[in-house]
Amino acid sequence: MSKGRGLMTGNARDGTLIARTYNELKNDIIRGRLTPHEKLRVEHLKHDYDVSSGTLREALTMLMADRLVVAEGQRGFRVRSISPQELLDLNRIRVLLEKEAIRQAVECGDEDWEAGVVTAFHLLGKTTTAFANDPENPEVLELWEERHRAFHLALISASPSEWLRYFLSMAYQQYERYRHLFLEVARSASRGRDPHAEHTAIVDAVLARDGDLAATLVEQHISASIDEWAQYFEKVGMVGPDQAAAAEDKPRRKGRRTS
Ligand SMILES: [Zn+2]
Repeated sequence: MSKGRGLMTGNARDGTLIARTYNELKNDIIRGRLTPHEKLRVEHLKHDYDVSSGTLREALTMLMADRLVVAEGQRGFRVRSISPQELLDLNRIRVLLEKEAIRQAVECGDEDWEAGVVTAFHLLGKTTTAFANDPENPEVLELWEERHRAFHLALISASPSEWLRYFLSMAYQQYERYRHLFLEVARSASRGRDPHAEHTAIVDAVLARDGDLAATLVEQHISASIDEWAQYFEKVGMVGPDQAAAAEDKPRRKGRRTS
């Protein structure tokens, strides 16, 4: 045990463990390693995550607030299910919020905000090229996801509304879950699009301080793929939790139990 950890009080150590477990579980749900509707058995998971059942329950309770986990029965938990209706609803709400947020950011942002947008755009652009050259590489996809989210968050970061920024970060999280669960749909939906050109146009509009144009471009950008998603769901029918879980064969973390 390091000196630093040795000096930690019991409460601080518990807090750190809960936060770590929360982040790991969250990541596993968003990445699809824990699948929609999967039962989360505390007695199994505590071995997988190497924590006590108390810590695990605290982390799972926090994930309920993120709408990634639902309580079941007296003391049970499940991964929250997904549905096409939810994705379409999410898309609509994200469009509404992000348009408002980008308008506010264009109005209130200073030069530091502009610099943050340009930096995030530059980093995303580098990964977009790598992604286009190597679309099957999971590490590249992971980095692209991270930088894509960072770019959109940088765009709206000058919005003075803390709630708006919070709701949008929640929406991005849910979105990423769908993208990972239906990677093939996400890939096919983005075919024929030029995300770099779309992002460039948004950056140009915000730097020119044209909030209305930026809002219109953001709406087009967010909604461009949703029709393809809707068509996919129409084709496969209403995706129930089990079908969704089976829709793609997700690699599981070594040692992870399957139920
Ligand atoms: Zn984007």
